[in-house]
Amino acid sequence: MTIFEKIVAGELPCNKVLENDDFLAFHDINPKAPIHILVIPKTLVKDFHECSPEMMKGMTEFIQKVAEFLGLEKGGYRLITNIGENGGQEVPHLHFHLLGGAKLAWTHLSDADPKGSF
Ligand code: 5GP
Repeated sequence: MTIFEKIVAGELPCNKVLENDDFLAFHDINPKAPIHILVIPKTLVKDFHECSPEMMKGMTEFIQKVAEFLGLEKGGYRLITNIGENGGQEVPHLHFHLLGGAKLAWTHLSDADPKGSF
């Protein structure tokens, strides 16, 4: 079972923001911005690459609802999903990081030369 499946099952606590039948939004335990929410499907899907367009439709609607619930749509926010090893994914259960509450930094994400591959 992934950590996030345990949270969905109520076996681990979380600081919940919103949920519906299919998705759950809760605060990240190690926030990287004033607002840092994780949005997950309640059923296990490993990552974005394995997510169906049908699930993404519901996910999109739910993320928009969470952003509006927190008032993030006014000033803007960032949505990130890490995929696999190179993407830096630590928990193998699809999740979107919803980040906001301040103007966010945008820096180099790798030591590799970003202009080296084109
Ligand atoms: P990833 O690196 O997989 O994209 O992100 C995993 C995220 O899950 C990290 O930001 C990490 O802080 C968060 N996280 C890991 N374990 C827990 C937990 O038990 N509870 C909560 N709320 N967040 C967690």
